[in-house]
Amino acid sequence: MEGCSRCGGEVFYTRRYSGESLCSNCFSVSIVEKTRKTISKYGMIRHGERVGVAVSGGKDSLSLLDVLHRLSDRHGSQLVAISVDEGVAGYREEALEHARSAATQLGVEHLTVSYKDLFGFSLDEALNWKEERDVSSCSFCGVFRRRAIDEAAERAKVSVVATAHNLDDYVQTFIMNLLHGDVARLGWLDPVHADDSFAIRRVKPFMEIYEEEVALFAFHSGVPFQSVSCPYMHEGLRTEVRDYLDRMEATHPGIKNVLLGSSLDVISRYADAGRKASVPCSDCGRPSSSGLCNVCRMKARIKQHINYTG
Ligand code: SF4
Ligand code: ZN
Repeated sequence: MEGCSRCGGEVFYTRRYSGESLCSNCFSVSIVEKTRKTISKYGMIRHGERVGVAVSGGKDSLSLLDVLHRLSDRHGSQLVAISVDEGVAGYREEALEHARSAATQLGVEHLTVSYKDLFGFSLDEALNWKEERDVSSCSFCGVFRRRAIDEAAERAKVSVVATAHNLDDYVQTFIMNLLHGDVARLGWLDPVHADDSFAIRRVKPFMEIYEEEVALFAFHSGVPFQSVSCPYMHEGLRTEVRDYLDRMEATHPGIKNVLLGSSLDVISRYADAGRKASVPCSDCGRPSSSGLCNVCRMKARIKQHINYTG
């Protein structure tokens, strides 16, 4: 059997789409290199910048923190790990502990913000309001999560926030937006995305790396992470899209890479056209499409249903 394509060592992983076989060390190095190239190709991080890294405590985000830490000297960047405590009893505590300990080990500043402090309710409390909830738990939670990260980014004084979305997440989201007829949201998939009147950029340095490779990187690095899923996770259509794309990739290696390229092409042509003009939210002053942002609209509705103290 042939050895590692780079050093001749024992093969740990073979990239079916390129035919490259790699030992565990060369594989890890290749993930760091691929991430560096993605960052540079899209100008995601500027030299000397303060960079927020959204760290949930799962394998993808802890791997991202590790990789960006390895690259931070080259970028002259200073990292701040940002975690969001949604308030899910019996679940979030362990993940936050993994995030905290990884940041400490790397000597990276760590900031946690909670739904309870920011919005006046935990996710557990908000989701008790079930009957009138017209969106999935994750869509509902996601509105607050994005705002929580924005708030944390401002507190941490970072100009860019990196999230651990990988190639699979990216192409699944692209397909799902098409299936939902939600072309306006394609702008969120810009490799470097900024809301119209919001200065903090969002970047996805793992967007060109397969989920399977990020997972292998995490296992190989040996950093403990939370493997249990959130009890509210409901992926519905995403699971079907993921299974379909996985089946396609198994018979046509590299097809997800091709889909990523096509997605980027479509997004670069249509994302701006799909963006709505924004006006300041009458409540919080942040950008909104209708004068009241989603967070303030949903907060007002929750307020009627739970013992709200925010
Ligand atoms: Fe929120 Fe869904 Fe993540 Fe749970 S899985 S924390 S509900 S976005
Ligand atoms: Zn608002």
